[in-house]
Amino acid sequence: MAPPADSPARPHPDGIRPLLERLSQRFTAQQLLTGKGQTAPFESDGLTAFRTHPGAVVLAESADDVVDVVRLCHTFGVPFVARGSGTSLSGGSLPIEGGVVIALNRLNRVLRYAPQHRVIVVEPGFINLQVSKHAAPNGLYYSPDPSSGPVCTIGGNVAFNSGGAHCLKYGMTANHVLGVKAVLPDGEVVTLGADSLETAGPDLAGMFVGCEGLFGVALEITLRLLPIPERYHTVLAAYDSLTKAGDAVSKVVASGLLPGAMEIMDRLAIEASEAAVHAGYPLQAAAALIVELEGAEEEVAAEIPLLDEVIRQSGAYEVRVAKSPKERMDIWIGRKCAFSAVGRLSPDYIVQDGVVPRTRLGEALTTIEALGREYKLRIANVFHAGDGNLHPLILYDGRVEGQLEHAERLAGEILRMCIRLGGSITGEHGVGVEKLAYLPEMYSETEMALMNRIRRAVDPAELANRGKMLAAASKGA
Ligand SMILES: Cc1cc2nc3c(=O)[nH]c(=O)nc-3n(C[C@H](O)[C@H](O)[C@H](O)COP(=O)(O)OP(=O)(O)OC[C@H]3O[C@@H](n4cnc5c(N)ncnc54)[C@H](O)[C@@H]3O)c2cc1C
Repeated sequence: MAPPADSPARPHPDGIRPLLERLSQRFTAQQLLTGKGQTAPFESDGLTAFRTHPGAVVLAESADDVVDVVRLCHTFGVPFVARGSGTSLSGGSLPIEGGVVIALNRLNRVLRYAPQHRVIVVEPGFINLQVSKHAAPNGLYYSPDPSSGPVCTIGGNVAFNSGGAHCLKYGMTANHVLGVKAVLPDGEVVTLGADSLETAGPDLAGMFVGCEGLFGVALEITLRLLPIPERYHTVLAAYDSLTKAGDAVSKVVASGLLPGAMEIMDRLAIEASEAAVHAGYPLQAAAALIVELEGAEEEVAAEIPLLDEVIRQSGAYEVRVAKSPKERMDIWIGRKCAFSAVGRLSPDYIVQDGVVPRTRLGEALTTIEALGREYKLRIANVFHAGDGNLHPLILYDGRVEGQLEHAERLAGEILRMCIRLGGSITGEHGVGVEKLAYLPEMYSETEMALMNRIRRAVDPAELANRGKMLAAASKGA
């Protein structure tokens, strides 16, 4: 399926030819891929229902390679998209038809590591989980932990302001990026931010985070590291209703506790996860809530009795506490593999990513359940409950005529519910191409116009990731 056709005119078939000539002078045949067979692996990302053909793929090996491709694209007016590991679930790294994909996986070096300052500078293709591995010998780690952490890149995380189970206490990617060196869509190279949060002027590095590749390509990223918590206390609580589990989250927060993570999985997600990794989740439960306290030894010890009391009063019928690092990992592995495990239940599924205020979680979950019944589609729920960040996984069979569109309509209803309840259409997976139509429903005309003006100021020709997030700008909104 092709993405919505509301981007500006596609490049003329001849449009990319002069660019290809220049690229072939600059890059080896191993770096410049143009044949259909060669570019096929780049036609899609984690949102596999969408697929487009790039005109070329450049496998960049250095920052200079990236700068040169961007400059040439600017010269010839050809759009480009930066690509990390291609795990975007909203079509963020989907190629622009006939445009250039700049693949960044080979830019995977640590450029500077200063444990005494708790700072690391990496290239954009550096893998998320590797940051913590690199810092572990110094008792440090990188906090944002998307479930895709073993494969996704820091560049992709920056573009999407990615989150993870442990972003409740310490925040999303935006809270851990100190600086970004980037090539702008016109080929100029800029350094935004610095080694510390205290710097002059507006927070331009902050603006780059979450821009979904629209402001250019990150070449170097300076990340903040944190000390590894001294102690974790991980609880798995089973409930006989999803709404009760949702309400328990509000009760934990109302008690004054700020856990490191609070995650919920419903029965369908538990079933899939158990079949895949046998983490020992309660199979009869309508929902499982994972709550993890983390921090200094004394702090966690002082919080445990209060958490016990809140969970007891929330109506959990079974409570398991991890007694060893292995038992903790078992609990987390069940949660972290849940998305991929759901693939066992259905040939296809859409992962939604709406956010609702935490206090309205119970209501939102009840509505999702009702929508599933109305549309006659199964929905598995796995989500960052502490942030109110829902991940309904809508199960469908793409081989059945019309079922993808039916599932997309249901997904749209869920997003509109999130807006109605005062939340957001995305918590961490971005707008990409998937949620383009819903952004103007979330923001006012004035707010949309402001975002479009900023985008055009940086990239008047809309070369960088054209057709994503702010495609409306192309239509003169
Ligand atoms: C099984 C699974 C689980 C997931 N779990 C989570 C989760 O828990 N939390 C979460 O937030 N996400 C999650 N995701 C989504 C995805 O992994 C994240 O969005 C991730 O940040 C994408 O990284 P990537 O390297 O794959 O980027 P890509 O998919 O390659 O690109 C994503 C976006 O970033 C842009 N981009 C990439 N590199 C750069 C750069 N250097 N400069 C500018 N723009 C760039 C691309 O143009 C694109 O718009 C999950 C995905 C899967 C498949």
